[in-house]
Amino acid sequence: MVQTSVVIVGGGVMGAATACFLARDHGARVTVIERDPSYTCASSALSASSIRQQFSTPVNIALSQWSLRFMQRVGDELAVGDDRPQIGLVEPGYLYLATPAGVDAMRASHEVQRAAGADVHLLSPLQLQHRFDWLAVDGLALGSWGASGEGWFDGPALMQALRRKAVACGARFVKGEASRFVTAADRVVAVQCTTGELHEGDAFVLAAGAWSASLSAQLGLELPVSPRKRDVFVLDTPAVLPACPLVIDPSGVWFRPEGRGFIAGAPPRTDEPDEPLDRIDHALFDEWIWPVLAARVPAFEALRVRSCWAGYYEINAFDHNGYAGLLPGWRNAYAACGFSGHGMQHAPAVGCGMAALLAGGRTDAPALDPLAPARLLENRPLVERHII
Ligand SMILES: Cc1cc2nc3c(=O)[nH]c(=O)nc-3n(C[C@H](O)[C@H](O)[C@H](O)COP(=O)(O)OP(=O)(O)OC[C@H]3O[C@@H](n4cnc5c(N)ncnc54)[C@H](O)[C@@H]3O)c2cc1C
Repeated sequence: MVQTSVVIVGGGVMGAATACFLARDHGARVTVIERDPSYTCASSALSASSIRQQFSTPVNIALSQWSLRFMQRVGDELAVGDDRPQIGLVEPGYLYLATPAGVDAMRASHEVQRAAGADVHLLSPLQLQHRFDWLAVDGLALGSWGASGEGWFDGPALMQALRRKAVACGARFVKGEASRFVTAADRVVAVQCTTGELHEGDAFVLAAGAWSASLSAQLGLELPVSPRKRDVFVLDTPAVLPACPLVIDPSGVWFRPEGRGFIAGAPPRTDEPDEPLDRIDHALFDEWIWPVLAARVPAFEALRVRSCWAGYYEINAFDHNGYAGLLPGWRNAYAACGFSGHGMQHAPAVGCGMAALLAGGRTDAPALDPLAPARLLENRPLVERHII
């Protein structure tokens, strides 16, 4: 059924992308309800905004490939009049490093990635040393390097460009906090906000990021998605690392260039939901990240933390993949949330795919079926092993 009037809860990158493709390509009437137009805590405003093809699930590789092509022509895709947005996409690659214990898993993922057309290469310690002469290869058995199609970009700029294009094509962004779905039989008929205001529509999309669980529970399926704080440290260093990709050490510590310096992070030591964003774990840097960095890149001996920030990953505890598609039991209620720390890079492809699902049109974006929320009900996890 063609859904012409769509209400989206959440105006982060997922909501904005879905709104943009619905309004731009399908002429749908779109209302996006966003509780905080300044996006203070939204994952999309606090993202490290990197893109890779080194996933373990084919659908994630396909979403990255489609989104990358979109980002490469973002100035044309999201132009509003003469205003052609720029998102500073660069493609220096990702470099995953493995000890002997990680070699089999790395080789297995490599097969999946090559079969999906990713330009990834396995490098021995000698080859690693030759290509990245600033890297200490002690303890390493293998590296997996993306020679093209991986890198980073300005994620908040992408979100704003999607939003601006959506609005230029007729979408409305309204300030409000959705509190209730109004239903009739197997259809949602409206979203009610805390002010009592009702937004009626033909179809509804839950794109409330890390805060989607309680709203989904109202529709009978509590998606196990919750806000998990991740700290990012901004580093000043005189170190010059030619052709430095985003490097993921076997310990989980990662770093990449950012402007004239670097940013770095690591999996948290405690991972409870809703930890306050202003409570940065500085000991995580001092006791874990810093020693790993100094050992892996001797030039990082001279380094200081210039600043830091934290944001929430919208972790889906079921399988670390997003939910994109119809909510089971409903004819017109959809989810686009829970992308578990890789949603920024996938938003263009997911938004395009969601718009086609809702509006009934054709698309060359990857099919979203593997990410359908029904997999939770059917206990069919689609586990993504490459989580950073
Ligand atoms: C530190 C960090 C690093 C990251 N690095 C990367 C990376 O390198 N690559 C990558 O691809 N991804 C990365 N991510 C993840 C990525 O940023 C997210 O996957 C993506 O931004 C999720 O977008 P979203 O629209 O689903 O959620 P959000 O951006 O959080 O948007 C959801 C919106 O819903 C609103 N909302 C919530 N509840 C309601 C309600 N009841 N009513 C109305 N509005 C509501 C919120 O205010 C929010 O604006 C990172 C995230 C963080 C925090």
